Amino acid sequence: MIVEIVDLGTWGGASLVAEYDPCDDAIRVDARAVAAVRAALGGAEAELFTTVAIAHERFHRAHPHGTEAQAHAYAQAVCGVARERYERVLRLARGDAA
Ligand SMILES: [Zn+2]
Repeated sequence: MIVEIVDLGTWGGASLVAEYDPCDDAIRVDARAVAAVRAALGGAEAELFTTVAIAHERFHRAHPHGTEAQAHAYAQAVCGVARERYERVLRLARGDAA
């Protein structure tokens, strides 16, 4: 498996903050999302975002038929992050207001 931080661009007006691509067994985290979290909350939260995004995508890799809710719950649990903090960094990563 490879992990990359790259510009994932936008699809249909929706920004994608991370993805798992089974074709090349790659987890990709959007560089612009990392930068958005860093600009709003600082480096520590940008690191947290990157860590939870990778954990979330690792869930999808291990459980191709798992749900989004399960992936979010897994990422929060393995990273030991409270739900409020998790949702805050995700909102910022998606470009929504904090
Ligand atoms: Zn997901």
